[in-house]
Amino acid sequence: MAELWKGAPAAKALTEKTAARAAVLRDRGIAPTLALVRVGAREDDLAYERAAVKRCQSCGVETRSVVLPETASTAELIAVLRELNGDGSVHGVLLFRPLPGHIDDEAVRRAQAPEKDVDGVTDGSLAGVFAGTGTGFAPCTAEAVVVLLRHYGVKLDGANAVVAGRSLVVGRPLSMLLLAAGATVTVCHSHTRDLASVTRGADIVVAAVGKRGFFGTEHFAPGQAVADVGIHAAGDGSLCGDVRTGEAAAVVAGITPVPGGVGAVTTAVLASHVVEAAERSA
Ligand code: NAP
Repeated sequence: MAELWKGAPAAKALTEKTAARAAVLRDRGIAPTLALVRVGAREDDLAYERAAVKRCQSCGVETRSVVLPETASTAELIAVLRELNGDGSVHGVLLFRPLPGHIDDEAVRRAQAPEKDVDGVTDGSLAGVFAGTGTGFAPCTAEAVVVLLRHYGVKLDGANAVVAGRSLVVGRPLSMLLLAAGATVTVCHSHTRDLASVTRGADIVVAAVGKRGFFGTEHFAPGQAVADVGIHAAGDGSLCGDVRTGEAAAVVAGITPVPGGVGAVTTAVLASHVVEAAERSA
């Protein structure tokens, strides 16, 4: 039976390191600060905001919530972001997405300062992840997978990793992070032929296709490490991932659960990015 690789211990370890770095900054008179920008009041955003604020509080990172009405225009949102870009007391800015449909997401994304882009959405952040030359950060979820695997001693250097999913927020940046860590990476997507035979041949399988319970026994082989990035809410409010955890756990060496796996590490990564942004600006 597989080990269950819960996110909480990995998040705790990272939070302790972040708190120590934040304390050093505070001794120098710098209070690392995250601005959380929300348009409207989507329940998902509110839940993530609560979790992010709690995590930041636990490691000495200040937070400031900026809330715009659901009816806010693109120009109004961009004005708020420009103000935060120019505010020296704010080191990181997290904008909750998806934005309401009438807002021009691309224009908003371009208005975000890469050096404060702690969730890795700007071109500067993508350049950093893909070429190692940018000024921003990796998307928190992608980095959380690497943090979690490392915490449980999964060897990335030399490993064959299969990432199922090629989105700009998860699959692609994660592939680059694994590549940078020395893994041999195969990226799969909806046109991949015989996905199960590809995943069965890997040492590490990352499931990020956004389909509830998509991966089962046929996708796995003994000894594998599995990270399940998917999050799906059932009608009764319970959460599950892209992997049928019970089936996978009967085969593989270790698997991250949903809930309480990758998702539990993302706010710890976010807080670490805010502290790093403050260190870079100091
Ligand atoms: P997305 O933008 O919908 O991308 C899904 C990817 O999966 C696409 O690249 C798609 O391929 C691929 N795909 C779809 N069906 C497939 C199939 N049958 N075989 C192989 N690949 C397939 O989703 P996302 O934003 O990356 O998110 C992925 C999952 O992670 C979602 O469940 C989301 O809720 C979750 N998530 C979790 C967190 C967290 O904190 N844990 C954060 C963000 C997202 P094509 O490119 O060919 O369409």
